[in-house]
Amino acid sequence: MANRVLFRGGHVLTMDPQLGDVHGGDVLVEDDRIAAVGSGIEAGDAEVVDTTGCIVIPGFIDSHRHTWETVIRGIAPDVSLGGYFEIVLDQLAPAYRPEDVYAGNYLGSLEAIDAGVTTLLDWSHISNTPEHSDEAVHGLQDAGIRGVYAHGIPGDNSWWAYSDRGHPEDIRRIQDRYFSSDDQLLTLAMAARAVGNVTPETAQHDWALARELGIRITVHVGMRLTGVHVHHILGMHEAGVMGPDTTYIHCTDSTDEELDLIAETGGTVSIASYVELLMGHGRPPTGRLLERGVRPSLSVDVVSSVPGEMFTQMRTALVYERILAFTDTPDEPFAPKLTHRDVLQFATIEGARACGLDDKVGSLTPGKQADFILLRTDMVNVAPLIDPVTTAVVFADTSNVDSVFVAGKPVKRNGELVGHDLQRAFGLLEQSRDYLLTEAGMLPDWVGAPVTA
Ligand SMILES: [Zn+2]
Repeated sequence: MANRVLFRGGHVLTMDPQLGDVHGGDVLVEDDRIAAVGSGIEAGDAEVVDTTGCIVIPGFIDSHRHTWETVIRGIAPDVSLGGYFEIVLDQLAPAYRPEDVYAGNYLGSLEAIDAGVTTLLDWSHISNTPEHSDEAVHGLQDAGIRGVYAHGIPGDNSWWAYSDRGHPEDIRRIQDRYFSSDDQLLTLAMAARAVGNVTPETAQHDWALARELGIRITVHVGMRLTGVHVHHILGMHEAGVMGPDTTYIHCTDSTDEELDLIAETGGTVSIASYVELLMGHGRPPTGRLLERGVRPSLSVDVVSSVPGEMFTQMRTALVYERILAFTDTPDEPFAPKLTHRDVLQFATIEGARACGLDDKVGSLTPGKQADFILLRTDMVNVAPLIDPVTTAVVFADTSNVDSVFVAGKPVKRNGELVGHDLQRAFGLLEQSRDYLLTEAGMLPDWVGAPVTA
């Protein structure tokens, strides 16, 4: 007998173009799947959950986050990309122990779930030893999130400096050990480096390896770095590696010609607007991509300087495009093209596409996995409800995320994470923070200082 639950009477934003929005809508879940979406669905023997007044949307999908950095949250709030490399990759990453990676991935995934992120692409360039990679996977597994574990290189800047070292072969062991089944929450990808960070021959080696393993590739390109001017995408085009299995992150300094190459080869894009503007990666290319028919996904990137939820990402992507729509002619009407619904799609179905999971998640479509969230609207920051899309994008925040379901299973319910000992988890985080910051000589004076009245 299937376990059937009917979520009745919510504002259902399916993100499926065929189904649209259903006000007073029902979502019928059978085991791990969505069985039906509509109005007045017969409950039969199903358990009924009243979702009246809730906004029901697919879980958010973060298409790029260095989850291991959760243990050093806030360490680099005010630096450019170059400063970030010095602090995080030169000083902190080499000091990471496997347990620090575990703590980061476990707590980072819980943070994501708490914020309504049901799928997280973990861009894991902390493979200092095989044990580090193992613990990254264990952290994702223990949190119960759907994830793409994007196996990367060790945390060490030398791997980025026009390196001729190919992607670590340990990815083969990781695939054999953890990814032999398609029927699980985690899938494998390669966190690769672009031509410019590596030689063309190295990129060819790495892309061939990923394709031999049958996995997607995710790569950083076009970030503005003082004194370094590289056309990553052009380099990858010349190396002959571009394809529909590749997601390009940032593209902030990429030329029109390079964005054309992404469109022509069917690649996907991940934009992290908040960090791109905060740290000076360059201008988020949302509108330039849309002109070429490429609909981007959104991502958090680093909690070393950026909040780990998707509301900020949606709003920043939207408002930055609106800034670009200003003209210096006061009488010319303000005519922005990007809409609230667009950025909600970017944070859901387009994220699924960038993760290669759009046949499984990203919209509330019967047959897909039941990954969805309930946003409360009986709260002071969102009431009264007029337009659910606007509310989800503009007014809601993590406090409105009442319930989160992954594969039909509740992982957050009534505003509380389900099945985790948070005090123990915070202990792991603080131990790692203290160890790493002491190693790097960055521990703030107040840590461990006696509390005085
Ligand atoms: Zn990144």
